[in-house]
Amino acid sequence: MPRMCPRCGKEGGPFVGPLCADCYAQIYGIAELPAEVEMRYCRSCGAYRLQGEWVAGPGSIEETVKEYSLIAIGQRAKPSQHLEEVYVKDLRAEYAGHGAYLVVLKMVGRRGEVELEEERSVRVTPVAQLCPSCFRRKSKSGHAAVIQIRPLIGRFSEEKMREIERFLGSSEERLRGAIISIEELREGIDVTVEDQSIAKVLANKLKGKFGGFLGESFKLTGTRGGEKRGVLSISARIVNAEPGSLLAYGNRRVLFAGVSRNRVILLDAYSGEIFEEEADDVAKYKASEEALPGELMRLRFLGASEGELLFQDEEGRVLEFRKGEVKLVAGRLREGSSYAAYLLKGILYLMGEKA
Ligand SMILES: [Zn+2]
Ligand SMILES: [Zn+2]
Repeated sequence: MPRMCPRCGKEGGPFVGPLCADCYAQIYGIAELPAEVEMRYCRSCGAYRLQGEWVAGPGSIEETVKEYSLIAIGQRAKPSQHLEEVYVKDLRAEYAGHGAYLVVLKMVGRRGEVELEEERSVRVTPVAQLCPSCFRRKSKSGHAAVIQIRPLIGRFSEEKMREIERFLGSSEERLRGAIISIEELREGIDVTVEDQSIAKVLANKLKGKFGGFLGESFKLTGTRGGEKRGVLSISARIVNAEPGSLLAYGNRRVLFAGVSRNRVILLDAYSGEIFEEEADDVAKYKASEEALPGELMRLRFLGASEGELLFQDEEGRVLEFRKGEVKLVAGRLREGSSYAAYLLKGILYLMGEKA
């Protein structure tokens, strides 16, 4: 008896895995493709970035999208199970609005002698920036900037680094496109930006998102026509501690309470002293996990009644404190807000209001 496709009943094949080739293509598809990709290209010379290298582009943006897609999507295409290989046979690009292209690819999958075809589309978004050689030319003109993103305390966690990079990558195109490079260092992240005003906007957005301190310095490389030229360097110290985090430096153990204008507010974990330090001076502290002399809790402020302040802990228990026993280290006391609370020698210290 000849072999029969269990799905459509067709006899004689060709077969791929358990099904005839047509049913296989319908059920499994031919390739796993990314739904969308970003293409970085140089707005000045038309080069595009492929696997970390800048390659001269063919000229028009549409041709560049096609050339890039053929290679980049081709490489990322994974054959579906039972298939040995998959490749792009042909493709076309259609403008899809909002700066993006819809690339329609004719994919071919192969298993032994059997070839299957399938049409797929991938959204390709070109992101304009400057390639390094155009950047070098431009930076001589004196408009470039570096944002040095550093942790307020100790080192950034791996997770915080990713979060910052994701934030930079998700900024609006005008800003994102001006980023020349993002470099991870031991001490933080260096972001090179082709334009000094955009670098300032990005640095302020970082500060707004994560909290922190900004400082600027300017390395003069020359003047032309009375205009100063050089590289602007912006230091962005980013808050990488939660209110109530324990920090250690020498014998000192402090709780991070928050930031106010250009100072960091700290609470001594042993004496209850509240003090402020400059952002640069806080860098010497390291996160610590030691046992604390007081008790750290998360409390919600319920309200005041007859000189008593009422709080609720995470288990739902209600705690009462006299007004004189509660100290607000940073922020405001608001009904319904929750705080990192530290109870030391009968005094309740409140930090980091969260609505
Ligand atoms: Zn079939
Ligand atoms: Zn270029």
